[in-house]
Amino acid sequence: MHDFPDALAVVQATSPDEPVTLVRPHAAERAARFFVENFRGKTLYAVKANPSPALLRTLWRAGVTHFDVASIAEVRTVRSALPQAKLCFMHPVKAESAIAEAYAKHGVRTFSLDSHEELQKILRATDHATDLDLFVRIRVPSDHAQLSLAAKFGAQPHETPQLLMAARQAADGLGICFHVGSQAMSPHAYVSAIERVRAAIVEASVLVDYIDVGGGFPSVYPGLEPPALQQYFDTIYRAYWDLPISYSAELWCEPGRALCAEYNSIIVKVERRRGTELYINDGAYGALFDAAHIGWRFPVKLLRAQDNEAELTEFSFYGPTCDDLDHMTGPFLLPEDIKVGDHIEIGMLGAYGSAMRTQFNGFGTSGCLVVADEPMESLYREVPAEPGTDNVVAIGKR
Ligand SMILES: *Cc1c(COP(=O)(O)O)cnc(C)c1O
Repeated sequence: MHDFPDALAVVQATSPDEPVTLVRPHAAERAARFFVENFRGKTLYAVKANPSPALLRTLWRAGVTHFDVASIAEVRTVRSALPQAKLCFMHPVKAESAIAEAYAKHGVRTFSLDSHEELQKILRATDHATDLDLFVRIRVPSDHAQLSLAAKFGAQPHETPQLLMAARQAADGLGICFHVGSQAMSPHAYVSAIERVRAAIVEASVLVDYIDVGGGFPSVYPGLEPPALQQYFDTIYRAYWDLPISYSAELWCEPGRALCAEYNSIIVKVERRRGTELYINDGAYGALFDAAHIGWRFPVKLLRAQDNEAELTEFSFYGPTCDDLDHMTGPFLLPEDIKVGDHIEIGMLGAYGSAMRTQFNGFGTSGCLVVADEPMESLYREVPAEPGTDNVVAIGKR
């Protein structure tokens, strides 16, 4: 069923010269079940985080039925992998032809918008359909997030009431959505956003059918250890329940990262060592965009059979392309005696890692192998109950 037990077994069997992507379906399935069972509303998977058809099918098997898509290519990918899935086109600025194809050919009925222009575009492209669910995206602060999504999209408070009223006129179902930014390190990000939702509803006095709190749910990386996800769910539900429409509305969320971060890691090879700089065969134009461009640290592990006695030292990485930007500062902690020819596993690359590979400079191909072991970090690991207590299984890092 699994290709290999773990990364070390892959290196021992194949000593790969090119990067290898390791796939952990069990980790994505566990994450999806956690959301489906514990988030008190509907969970949509934000496809851009990792559009792999195998992952889409894994999430579907675990109970995720709704998918947040942002381009016509994502619409087609999900539709061909999952003919029954409900697709929600949640990019607030779309091509008219994309809306038309999504509506007429792929059964998409849910669209987001943050301007009157986009509303008109959706109505034209669907020939003034009367079976649309329209979500107005509002702008909220990204204060608690590692990656801001506050500047580009979202209606401003002074524009929102008019837009809600216009969308209400045109829509069968009306929703309000937002995005607090990616890797939100505190549940309070959602509380301040939901306060903006309340203000908008009160000012427009419209009936709202859906509240969509977007993505932003964190994963866990070195130096970025968030509170347990259950705290996010509880905090969101309390704030949602306080809204004047909660008795008749539906709560949605759109996690990307939190569902797939644990799904992939990669194996890379050290091609050169210069002091504490390691030249490896994947980088900024491969799966390590976030490590290069926003200084994200990912967990690393030297893949050698013998136990390593050498002290851990801080290393930085250069990727394979002929470009100074192809540099990952880290620091990445690895044994001091690491050398050319060694292989390293870099963990937690399932979200925005594999998905962002390019072929720049002729690098970027990578084979995929399924492995059975645990991801390097997890927000979903089952913690065995204390001896002597009830046979309860708690889920969470701490
Ligand atoms: C990117 C995106 C998401 C997923 O964000 P994560 O931070 O990965 O959870 C959800 N909704 C929308 C509209 C997005 O653009």
